[in-house]
Amino acid sequence: MQTSMETGHLLVITGNMMSGKTEELIARLRTAKRIETIRAEAARREGRRRAPRRIGVYKHGLDRRYSDTEIASHGGQRIQATPVFSAMELWQRCVEDDVRIVACDEVQFFMERDEEGWVIVRVLMALVQRGCQVMVSGLDKDFRGMPFGPMGDILALADERVSLTATCMRCGAPAVLPQRLIDGRPADWNDPIVQPGAMESYEPRCRRCHETAPPSGWDIAGDARAQAAATRDGGNPPSR
Ligand SMILES: [Zn+2]
Repeated sequence: MQTSMETGHLLVITGNMMSGKTEELIARLRTAKRIETIRAEAARREGRRRAPRRIGVYKHGLDRRYSDTEIASHGGQRIQATPVFSAMELWQRCVEDDVRIVACDEVQFFMERDEEGWVIVRVLMALVQRGCQVMVSGLDKDFRGMPFGPMGDILALADERVSLTATCMRCGAPAVLPQRLIDGRPADWNDPIVQPGAMESYEPRCRRCHETAPPSGWDIAGDARAQAAATRDGGNPPSR
């Protein structure tokens, strides 16, 4: 990649499943394309030559909802995308394609970790340091309502965040959590991520309708009471 006068920027579009993340990513990409065209024309009017910055559109290869070679929104928008299967492959593609504007869908799936942490986090940082305008979209919470893989770190790294909400399939309230269903029943907290032979599906739900609760041993109020009692009695031998 050549160096650029542009400042790097990381936009993260996040939120629940079916909240319009991919639609927003596609809209941002179209805007970026339009800006490049306008800038090139403005430069031409001033007698300068300005090549539009190259745009690379990628998605994690695990996302095969509608197509292997497109990102597609639930609303029916589609755009060509190159599937990649690891963070390092995303980096290599960006370098080979010599892109300055990078879009990547389903970024939560880049789960590779090493002793330095999530590899995707370093790849996104390196792209921004190269002066790339990076826009990614990804699910922030897993079916338990916990941070999804690298998304917490990616959100912390972002220069700009767009957070979207879906609609609860049960009651119509704003839905912030994905409900995992196995053979039509709510998944258990400890169910394995991959359940061979089972029919698995997901739907957006609000916190009230979400039915995958933490294990009963997860009692923060009880832990706090125990800790307060220990502090109160701290150092003193139990009275007899
Ligand atoms: Zn609900």
